[in-house]
Amino acid sequence: MNKQNMCPAFDILNFPLDRLKGVGHKRAKAFSICGVNKLFDLLYFFPKRYVTRASFVDIVDVKSGDDVTILAKVKKIRLVRGRKVFLDCTVYDNTGELKLLFFNPKIWIINELKGNNSFIFWGKVSEYKGKPMLVNPNFEPIINLRDSSGIFPIYPYSRKFKQVGLSSRAINKIVRSAFELSFSALVDPIPVSIRERERIPELKEALRMIHFPLALKEVEKARNRFAFEELFLTQLLFAKRKAETEKELSHCVCNRYELYDKYLEKLSFALTPAQRRVFDEIRLELSSGKRVRRLIQGDVGCGKTVVAMLLALLVVAEGFQVAFMAPTELLAFQHFVRQKEILDKIGVRVSLLTGGLKNKEKKEIFRGLENGLIDIVFGTHSLLSDEVKFKSLGLCIIDEQQRFGVAQRLELLSKAHAAHAILLSATPIPRTLFLALYGDLDLSTIDDHPPKKARVRTFIRPQSKRDAIYNFVRERCNKGEKGYIVFPTIGIENDTTRISLKEGVAFIKKYFKEESFKVIHGRLSSKEKEKIFNEFVYGNLSVLVGTSIVEVGLDVKEATFIVIEGPEYFGLSQLHQLRGRIGRGEKEGYCILILSKPYDSETLSRLARFSETENGFQLAELDLELRGWGDPWGVEQHGFFSFRVADPIKDRGILEKARLYAQDIMSGDIIPQKNEVEIIEGFIDSFANKTKFESLFI
Ligand code: ADP
Ligand code: MG
Repeated sequence: MNKQNMCPAFDILNFPLDRLKGVGHKRAKAFSICGVNKLFDLLYFFPKRYVTRASFVDIVDVKSGDDVTILAKVKKIRLVRGRKVFLDCTVYDNTGELKLLFFNPKIWIINELKGNNSFIFWGKVSEYKGKPMLVNPNFEPIINLRDSSGIFPIYPYSRKFKQVGLSSRAINKIVRSAFELSFSALVDPIPVSIRERERIPELKEALRMIHFPLALKEVEKARNRFAFEELFLTQLLFAKRKAETEKELSHCVCNRYELYDKYLEKLSFALTPAQRRVFDEIRLELSSGKRVRRLIQGDVGCGKTVVAMLLALLVVAEGFQVAFMAPTELLAFQHFVRQKEILDKIGVRVSLLTGGLKNKEKKEIFRGLENGLIDIVFGTHSLLSDEVKFKSLGLCIIDEQQRFGVAQRLELLSKAHAAHAILLSATPIPRTLFLALYGDLDLSTIDDHPPKKARVRTFIRPQSKRDAIYNFVRERCNKGEKGYIVFPTIGIENDTTRISLKEGVAFIKKYFKEESFKVIHGRLSSKEKEKIFNEFVYGNLSVLVGTSIVEVGLDVKEATFIVIEGPEYFGLSQLHQLRGRIGRGEKEGYCILILSKPYDSETLSRLARFSETENGFQLAELDLELRGWGDPWGVEQHGFFSFRVADPIKDRGILEKARLYAQDIMSGDIIPQKNEVEIIEGFIDSFANKTKFESLFI
């Protein structure tokens, strides 16, 4: 049956945005960048904060270090073109004046501030010559704050929308007309029985409350409702996926140990007890006939690769193929080089599929995979693209899986189809989070480490020590050691306090000869990256310079130091990942954090905890406790599954409820009405299909 016939209501919700009043082609594009493509998406495009009279701070009370929102008028603006181009702007209210600086201002900023409006400005206050100042603050024009409720919703991505002439106020207006247009078509995906029991406001009411609140209490109520909705639907989707997985039995029986034995023989070490336990656990599951969907989590350096490889060899011994996927081409290359060394000797046929291959080489690999001439293939997620066909794919291994958004993972797993899938993650997470993010998977944890040979020490240093630090690492290199210098990823625009990769490279040049360091970045071809990696491991290259994404998972024994610029911009788990790159050989390692200015005591104590703790589990928990859910791994996630509203940490209680209700529905303890089932399925489908995310892969 055709869904659209059953549910004509969905048509208006699919209405393309550029046909809405007040939205043309250009604005529709701006919305689209933020993941808003249809009328329905617009209704779910929620304000990220609300400003009321009570939010404003008088300028006279503005203090450096505070997060403030002020209501002010522009007194004068001046464009300064020096070494840096910036807009010098003075604003005032009844109590005083305040200086604002905008670096590299876009033309719309200048034009907008020239007008005679009042503005809301908000941001963190910095200081210049003892006076408070706002650098690159966000702002919104205010026409009349007294209209309606006096609550002013601010929508996200304000800079992007300003460029196409959309203020938060204008967006709010567009949402209102969308809301009115679709009002009669809106149906609630939360069954009425649950809503009544939990006193959850109905969808229409909640949408009204979140976009056009009459009181801040309403916002809270609506937010909780949408958090519940989001978690409830995710849990239902996970439960569905899990039930499907269990239904579909896999073909693989794993009890041939020839390759396994030969591989173990070639290793210079024995498995740790936890590696053994996890291996056994998964081997049993593989041979049970059940299709495996499992996450192995374990701290950086605990040896997840070996466990995954040993399992892969059981699968290969049965005549099936294995796809080993890494989040970056460089990491795929490293795995390939390392594993090939052993696998060649035991007669397992391996290949590496990367973007850099010539067409002819690619075709050859495609043919090998299709004809079963390749047993294990290494590569990125592109191994699961449609053009790659396997003769008999038995297992997919997905390394460093924490780098993938939930939506990406679901997509990869659905492409893995009948094959088993084992995911590896170096960022251990608490159980509540596991359920929120990985409810479709089973979990194995490696909770020990191979015996450590080398100690790694962590130092926190100010920028004034940069000279000494670079001298120190140059000395190391002169002794034949190697290391990394890492800069924060691009993220915060026009940041004046932070050293950029470009400035950093100019600095590094003063200390290192051109041929002794190389910058790794996303625009390099895979061939170039492989060449650099080879030079670093086997050649004269002493220093790899890059952003965090590049370094994930690299395992180079000679590396003894890592210098991290702007550590404030990394999460503790990320820093821990970076620190995990060194101390892998026999020699002591040095992890040196160079603080950006200005730093605050909060950051310092956070980093101090980092320097004292080597346990990744503890750091991950600490991270969540201190930074909340936000963006725990510094990876931008898109689409529904990044949790638009819900914060699995703060909303633990809601998550638990959502999970229980989803279980009740799956088990038949709660039976939704017939039309409700359709609505729920419609929502889940539309969310599950919404996997239009930007690629995270370099
Ligand atoms: P991660 O879990 O971070 O991916 P790797 O799989 O890269 O860690 O392993 C880190 C290093 O430890 C590798 O060089 C690997 O060969 C080595 N290793 C793995 N297991 C053991 C073990 N049981 N004993 C000693 N060394 C091991
Ligand atoms: Mg690894």
